[in-house]
Amino acid sequence: MLEHGGWQRTAAGAGLLKPDGSIAATIFAEMSALAVETGAINLGQGFPDEDGPAAVLETARQAISDGVNQYPPGRGFPDLRLAIAEHQKRFYGLEMDPDTDVLVTAGATEGLAAAILALVQPGDEVLTFEPFYDAYGGLVGLSGADHRTVALQWPDFQPDHDDLRDAVSDRTRIILVNNPHNPTGAVFDRATLELIVELAHRHDAIIVTDEVYEHLIYDAAHIPVASLPGAWERTVTISSGGKTFNTTGWKTGWATGPADLISAITTVKQYLTYVNGAPFQPAMATGLRLPDAYFHGAAAELQAKRDILAAGLRNAGFALSLPSASYFIVADASALGVTDAADFCRRLPHLAGVVGVPVTAFVNRDRHESYRSLVRFAFCKKRPVLEEAARRLSALRPGTP
Ligand SMILES: *Cc1c(COP(=O)(O)O)cnc(C)c1O
Repeated sequence: MLEHGGWQRTAAGAGLLKPDGSIAATIFAEMSALAVETGAINLGQGFPDEDGPAAVLETARQAISDGVNQYPPGRGFPDLRLAIAEHQKRFYGLEMDPDTDVLVTAGATEGLAAAILALVQPGDEVLTFEPFYDAYGGLVGLSGADHRTVALQWPDFQPDHDDLRDAVSDRTRIILVNNPHNPTGAVFDRATLELIVELAHRHDAIIVTDEVYEHLIYDAAHIPVASLPGAWERTVTISSGGKTFNTTGWKTGWATGPADLISAITTVKQYLTYVNGAPFQPAMATGLRLPDAYFHGAAAELQAKRDILAAGLRNAGFALSLPSASYFIVADASALGVTDAADFCRRLPHLAGVVGVPVTAFVNRDRHESYRSLVRFAFCKKRPVLEEAARRLSALRPGTP
């Protein structure tokens, strides 16, 4: 092993390596391995166990047969960029130019990486809410920026407005929003989103907003940050077909926003993947053009799944923060005597044959205390799987032999 190779310093500086130089295995990998080892139902990682719409899958198959297998254009096929622009208009009334305001990316993750690397300098601050999707911490670390956070607290996980005002300053280069939110399933209200826009203006910050759960929302309408007055010119919106069309393995996403920001992000994307996923791009265009009924049906189905798992968790003695969106539900295990969710999650497959992940996996170490008894469970699984998980969880009920 190189002793002080630059790559190692960079990765270590970003917190991605352990002190001995080995790769820090994520809790998701550890818990998925435990699920396999014990035969437990894996509600840790958030990937669906059912395929997406047949028309979307068929378009990809057809594209491969038709020879759509070479490098697509740098910004993505024009027809997909058009479908993305049409989708933003159909659902949110947003008007954009598909040639200058849309970039196809290798999943939302590459959009986030390219946006952060394009827009920050070492020493700038990137503000996220906490808990945060785990990639944010790594990407901000790799960019050399400082990562500041605003806490989202149990049980509603809405940010305190004074905390938000205090956290944004002239050093803030990016306010990174994730709405609807993973891991909590929270949906930020309009007043919070408006405050984010106001603060971005006051401190000349850019808003990067990760909206991959835009369609998996139950009792509210999704409000894209970019649709608020004064937001468009400084907002990059990132989404992906993975969650909406049950195709998480395709890693086909997009970034939309004003031409200057999208150009800057395109420049970085050129040196990350250059281009991606040729045959999946027409398939995503098919998905984005599905009738409204598909999108409503997907949300309603997920809500029913949420309710199956929620009933099982309540019955087992957990307190719940019922999510308004996303694949996930956060449960408080303190009534079960749990003070360390990470330790509890390692025991849960043995106790009840179910895997979850501790919410501390989504927070910085110095914030662990406020989240120590919280567990995230994914409910993007077939109904019978969730029913079985609910049945198994009842083994935890206090007094059950
Ligand atoms: C799943 C997820 C992503 C990753 O999306 P890809 O399209 O798979 O890269 C990004 N952000 C959040 C909040 C997610 O949950």
